[in-house]
Amino acid sequence: MKTLLQVDELKVHFPIKKGLLGRTVGYVYAVDGVSFTLREGETLGLVGESGCGKTTTGLGVLRLIPTTSGRILYNGEDIARVKAQRMRELRREMQIIFQDPYSSLNPRMTVNQILGDPMDTFGLYPGRQRSERIAFLLEKVGLSPEHGRRYPHEFSGGQRQRIGIARALALDPKIVIGDEPVSALDVSIQAQIINLLLDLQREFGLSYLLIAHDLAVVEYICDRVAVMYLGKIVEMGTYEQIYNHPKHPYTEALLSAVPIPDPKVTRRRILLQGDVPSPIHPPAGCHFHPRCPKRMDICDKERPPLTSLTGDHQVRCFLHA
Ligand code: SF4
Repeated sequence: MKTLLQVDELKVHFPIKKGLLGRTVGYVYAVDGVSFTLREGETLGLVGESGCGKTTTGLGVLRLIPTTSGRILYNGEDIARVKAQRMRELRREMQIIFQDPYSSLNPRMTVNQILGDPMDTFGLYPGRQRSERIAFLLEKVGLSPEHGRRYPHEFSGGQRQRIGIARALALDPKIVIGDEPVSALDVSIQAQIINLLLDLQREFGLSYLLIAHDLAVVEYICDRVAVMYLGKIVEMGTYEQIYNHPKHPYTEALLSAVPIPDPKVTRRRILLQGDVPSPIHPPAGCHFHPRCPKRMDICDKERPPLTSLTGDHQVRCFLHA
């Protein structure tokens, strides 16, 4: 599969300003050297607890927030460095589905206006093509053209997320970043939306970067998974490698919380002590050492490198360095 997106050593550090002069007194190291690739037609899950930097990574890749350093190659072009006009053109090919279907849709616009707005902005689908395109999109996400005349408040949460997905598809993108697209929905609706995303991926050949806070959500949809902790990827691999042969103690802990549908199979739950440390003062050495059940003497002194294991499998831990 062809590589569509290649992110190299991406950093997003937010300055902390103080006083009338706005002196910089420190940084929030939200994303601290993240590298991954996204191939044509695949789904990469980006998983980690709140505050680990996964959403910031997604927004940084789309350049919806300024990045500090690193390369973001889309089809070989470094979009971290292109001018605003070029980025605007590229944004058509890279869209986002937001987490909250309640706040991500303008309550004053009808669904027809919400879906037509990006087409108007890019001067696409003029005249009758516009309404035909909107009807097409609504049908693809399981709604009907009649829904186009209604306002967001007239829909359930699951239907609003379908509208959000239709809006993301309006410009015929290649890459869709899903920022926790099902976490605000009822569990019964989550499966419907995940199946819808899978159907749309098959039909339109989309590549997904799917952000989620636990491994259960991405289990049925991801080809590969990257696990993030405190601004860094600590393990990355195929579905099989991450779910069946996890190597990093943090991945093992996340996996231990994923329910198993077979009542005969049990899994020992690994409870991590404490919370994720502040990204303003990340711990020395391995960032995970204060919570790691397998820490060793070296772990609070040195940073573990990202080590390649077999195939696509990579892990950042001295146990495997
Ligand atoms: Fe745990 Fe040490 Fe591995 Fe970090 S490097 S995950 S502290 S064993």
